Amino acid sequence: MKILLFSHVHNQNRLKISMIEFIKNMPKVELHMHVEGSMDAKMLWKLAHKNNYKLKYNSVEELVKAYKFNNLTEFIEMYMLGTRVIQSEQDLYDVCMNYFQTCVEQNIRHTEVHCDIRTYVDYGYPAEFVINALHGAFTDAKKNYGITGGFMPCFIRHLGNDVAQKDLELLLPHKEKILAIGLSAVEVPYPPSLFKDTFKKVHDAGIKVIAHAGEEGPPEYIWSAIKDIQVDRIDHGVRCLEDDKLVDYLVETQIPLTVCPCSNVALKVFDSLSQHTLPIMLKKGLNVCINSDDPAHFGANLNENMIGIAENTTIGKNEIIHMAKNAINGSFADQARKDELLSELSDYKLS
Ligand SMILES: [Zn+2]
Repeated sequence: MKILLFSHVHNQNRLKISMIEFIKNMPKVELHMHVEGSMDAKMLWKLAHKNNYKLKYNSVEELVKAYKFNNLTEFIEMYMLGTRVIQSEQDLYDVCMNYFQTCVEQNIRHTEVHCDIRTYVDYGYPAEFVINALHGAFTDAKKNYGITGGFMPCFIRHLGNDVAQKDLELLLPHKEKILAIGLSAVEVPYPPSLFKDTFKKVHDAGIKVIAHAGEEGPPEYIWSAIKDIQVDRIDHGVRCLEDDKLVDYLVETQIPLTVCPCSNVALKVFDSLSQHTLPIMLKKGLNVCINSDDPAHFGANLNENMIGIAENTTIGKNEIIHMAKNAINGSFADQARKDELLSELSDYKLS
């Protein structure tokens, strides 16, 4: 009996290890990651030191501790501190390259990154500061590591439509460098409908549209993202399950939802990973994939998000592969690159 029990535990551990290794080595695509959210305490400390920016922390260890936030205010404070220590195009480029290093380690082959220009424009920098840093970093990531993708500036919704309009004017001359334009930051009470006329201009310019919706906001915000600003993809969207008609619509249209499990737990959308509704979303046929959102702040890159979900829910290897495929097909890569990524994934699955 003892031996049987031991062998059962042993087998379980072996299964667990093989799943972890499977996820780690799998070629992956990430569609929802905010550039400053990838800045870990070490990077923040380094840039603060370089730019003589006075921090209230006496050591990098203290800063690491402060990264473990207790509430939304502390999270936003630390996130904004990250933007303060970035004081040149080179600094932002270095933050991006630091993330691409993580992509290499995690076998992320294609990534689409969120950013905003408004924070830096309000600090007195030109919009090109952000655009050139990200464009330069993506060019070098492709050259050095074969990683593809691009960046997606987002309007900061709590600053309102007039500011979004100004941001759009600054972005339009650079539209060839942009993958999509999104809507991010505090969701409630700012439904996508408030930005209807600005996003009409985004569509008119031939630029794809994404929006954070249905994370803290109700299903009506997801409807608004669909009907009022005609999104190509929705960030989060987990609260769609509260509205059956919306679920039916999302299943029928297969609009991709970029779900971020560890972010959802850290920001108390769910109590724990085992409570996450991702298995239900998958079962209903929604087009979901897993992402990291703000990996440095939530203590989990893409691998850790996938492993966390696999360890704490009923989701197994087939569902992980299915979601990896969803991420490829839901990306803004051209069809040739999608085909390449799909064949890399299918070769890996068979090996
Ligand atoms: Zn996000």
